[in-house]
Amino acid sequence: METMNLPDIIAKKQEGFELNRAEIESVIREYSQGAVPDYQMAALLTTIYFRGMTKQETVDLVEAMIASGKKADLSHIGVRKVDKHSTGGVGDKISLLVAPIVASLGIPVPMISGRGLGHTGGTLDKLESIPGFTTAMTVKEFERQVTEIGCALIGQSEEFVPADQKMYALRDATSTVKSIPLVTASILSKKVAEGIDALLLDVKVGRGALFPDIRQARELAGHLVNIGEELGLEVFAMLTDMSQPLGKAVGNWLEVRECIQILKGGGNAPDLVELSLAQAAVMQVLAGTAPDYKTGKHRAENALESGAAYSKFLEIAGRQKADVSYIENPSKYPSNSFERTVSAQKSGYIQIVDALDIGKSAVQLGAGRLQKEDSIDYSAGIILRKKAGEKVKCGEELATLYASDEEKLESVRASVQEAFKIGQEPPPPKNLILAEITIQGERPWTN
Ligand code: URA
Repeated sequence: METMNLPDIIAKKQEGFELNRAEIESVIREYSQGAVPDYQMAALLTTIYFRGMTKQETVDLVEAMIASGKKADLSHIGVRKVDKHSTGGVGDKISLLVAPIVASLGIPVPMISGRGLGHTGGTLDKLESIPGFTTAMTVKEFERQVTEIGCALIGQSEEFVPADQKMYALRDATSTVKSIPLVTASILSKKVAEGIDALLLDVKVGRGALFPDIRQARELAGHLVNIGEELGLEVFAMLTDMSQPLGKAVGNWLEVRECIQILKGGGNAPDLVELSLAQAAVMQVLAGTAPDYKTGKHRAENALESGAAYSKFLEIAGRQKADVSYIENPSKYPSNSFERTVSAQKSGYIQIVDALDIGKSAVQLGAGRLQKEDSIDYSAGIILRKKAGEKVKCGEELATLYASDEEKLESVRASVQEAFKIGQEPPPPKNLILAEITIQGERPWTN
């Protein structure tokens, strides 16, 4: 095999030429095997960030990333396997609810997720905040668990899309996340490798999203749908609002705890529940088990209310070595030593709680990484006491901040305060789901 000259490949891309399949395959293979240093890969990613990629380059990239590892074979399961993936949001813990809801309804959900990226949180970090929960699994173990209990929640690994595991962390540390072809390849490589038939994509729009602008979010959704279908998946994308965080909790354990409350039939996060039920409904239609959205939604509600989804979550967590006593009794979780209250400076109506400010503040408190090597403080984060549309009196609590050191609390206090925009009139209501995009095109969400 000819040896690759990476500086030449970087230069070719810098000059605006299209990379061919052999070039893309060799870069990805050698980077995954440790034969390309991070600094050269970072230069190539930065060039792609600015230059973009053609559709053919993106398809070649997805396939090369899948080929860096193994693919799960779930073909012996005679029903359609369905997963969902979000492009990343703040307080977006929907996977933790939707996976057990849908799996409890008999639909296999094999799920490879990612860690936090930039100001957005990641499912793996949230799950790992539960003591003992392991998201590392071999392909064989993954296949066995999905076959036996209908769901496994894992991360990229040496066996599963190792290219994405390495590139994901490098993109995060080099600010090259917000690139449509790189996001497309990162998401679809994981989704094809996990052995699904159909995929629901939650493409976020608004200040807290990777691509806040609706035109870019549409473009990303279009890419994901087209390329996903070309790779053999049925893909349904939803454009959903990420102008304010979902639910009330932002930060790994805080978010898991919010989901546990909902799975146990409690909680106080109507937006989170509504979007989770909507996604669980669409997944059942994609699986072919529900004749229509309404029936799917009704079954998802039943799965929550009956406790079936909670039992499935316990089963998945137990199987993945979590100490389930923390799920059964979340109050035993070791609490963070410091907390601070942020209060309203005037009375009025909350217009919006800026998701970007909240996401960045949560990272600053220790809930995310500023560098690749940073460890996460699982109990750090923010609990929102008010959300858009609610009335607030001057001096009333807007949010509580949690961190393991007081300086961090002080450093984000002002930006959390700023995140709450207070006006004199109630804000106009906002739709949570803006549109659906499939291979047939875009349609307004009317369900
Ligand atoms: N989710 C992913 O898995 N990858 C990205 O690049 C962004 C969101």
